[in-house]
Amino acid sequence: MGPRMSFRTRLTLAYTGFFALALLLLGCGIYFSVRQALLAGVQRDLWAATRQVRAIFNAGGLEPVRTPTGELDPYLRSEFIQIFNNPNLGAQVFDRNGRLLNSTPNLDGHDLPLAPEALTLGAESVGTGLTTTHEIDGINLVSLVTPLVLQSNNRVVGYLQVWRPLRDVETTLRMLTGILLGGGAIALLMTAAGTALLSRRALSPVDEITRTAQSIVRAEDLAQRVPVPPQQDELHRLAVTINELLERLEKLFNAQRRFVADVSHELRTPLAAMQGNLEVLERGGLNNPELAREALADMRRETGRLIRMVNDLLLLAQSDARVQLRFEPVELDTLLLEVYRELRPLAGGVVLRIGAEDQVTVLGDRDRLKQALLNLGVNGLQYTPPGGAVTLGLEQRDGFALLTVSDTGVGINEEDLPHIFDRFYRADRSRSRYSGGAGLGLSIVKRVAEAHHGYATVASVPGRGSTFAIWLPLPPRPAPAETSEQPALEVKANDASPLPASR
Ligand code: ADP
Repeated sequence: MGPRMSFRTRLTLAYTGFFALALLLLGCGIYFSVRQALLAGVQRDLWAATRQVRAIFNAGGLEPVRTPTGELDPYLRSEFIQIFNNPNLGAQVFDRNGRLLNSTPNLDGHDLPLAPEALTLGAESVGTGLTTTHEIDGINLVSLVTPLVLQSNNRVVGYLQVWRPLRDVETTLRMLTGILLGGGAIALLMTAAGTALLSRRALSPVDEITRTAQSIVRAEDLAQRVPVPPQQDELHRLAVTINELLERLEKLFNAQRRFVADVSHELRTPLAAMQGNLEVLERGGLNNPELAREALADMRRETGRLIRMVNDLLLLAQSDARVQLRFEPVELDTLLLEVYRELRPLAGGVVLRIGAEDQVTVLGDRDRLKQALLNLGVNGLQYTPPGGAVTLGLEQRDGFALLTVSDTGVGINEEDLPHIFDRFYRADRSRSRYSGGAGLGLSIVKRVAEAHHGYATVASVPGRGSTFAIWLPLPPRPAPAETSEQPALEVKANDASPLPASR
């Protein structure tokens, strides 16, 4: 089977081959059992004829004759054989030396010789006889020889040979062979044609899927879908799976495209602003200290924004690439205090405070968690007008450590709420452009939470305030203090391992 042979051809060939083998076995079985049955019938015929002739013989086949020495000798009267008349069977009588005495006329003038070993048959072989096959003038025949026995002294006085041509058996077997070969050939042809047809129909969805997939490749159009066969079978599952794959690819591809577009757009704005300021400086702004100072401050602000954005993007890219997070015990209460201290200088007219503060330790990456919490805190301060309040909290709830940042600020509209964690999403563009955000802060929060096998949530009432939360799963059981204080390496060094003891 060459590699260029189609699956359909291979299937057809294999199926037809198996079928041919099965037919061959069946045909041989039928042929030999029929042959066996026919030959058994022939044997039965021969025995029936033998019994018939022997009955005639017993009724008067022997006549006592006085020999010249005066003894009584049984004389074999072979004429009795002529009484036996059967068009399909012949009979011959031989004397005890194997000399042919008489025969029925239906051997077409041929004498059937007596097999030499027949002369060794004793009186005891009356019931078994000797079966031999002969060929005379192209005609096969079977003969059965039995001894003729004088019952008074059990002496063999001659032999009876009954024979039967095998013409009818051979005709029947030839016919059977013809039927088996012809029928087998027809059956094989039909099987091959049927299999080819069926496999073509069965595999046509595969062809269609392949064609669609090829056109997707050619047109680079991920929006296309392969046709789904109606039956709920393997091909249906294949098509559905391919379509799911395409959908994911399409989504990823679109997200990628959108992301690149968003990034370019976001980078362009500060760069354009900086270019404008540079032009101001070039066109004599340097001679005006007031103008120069303003332009430089502007540029510093834009550069800061660019750096922040690039850092954020880097962080996101790393979490996208599943960069290995460090997983070490992080005391969240300490972390919360640290974030509180770093946010304080930014608070301005907003009251910053700490609400519930449980003592919770989780396994995670301290820097990333801090970054997420800072993002939430900065947002809270940014979107809360002076006089409002931002509250940081830490609780233990339902097997999670719950970090919350609530504010009494502007809140988020219901239609923005589902998208708030998306990249580059900003609920109010003009306002946050001014405050310098690029819409990446919350997506970082989400990524960090998910990288810790937790998640981020938000609840908000427009005009009343918002509450952001990070849910982090608690470690299954707190590690006992001793083991965490004793590094495994030290234990190994004491065990005289090849590791250097001073590390
Ligand atoms: P940005 O850098 O614009 O703040 P974020 O991803 O941090 O980007 O936030 C996305 C958007 O979510 C913001 O533009 C703002 O509209 C909204 N938002 C975030 N935090 C708050 C909050 N505490 N109160 C009201 N709106 C918020």
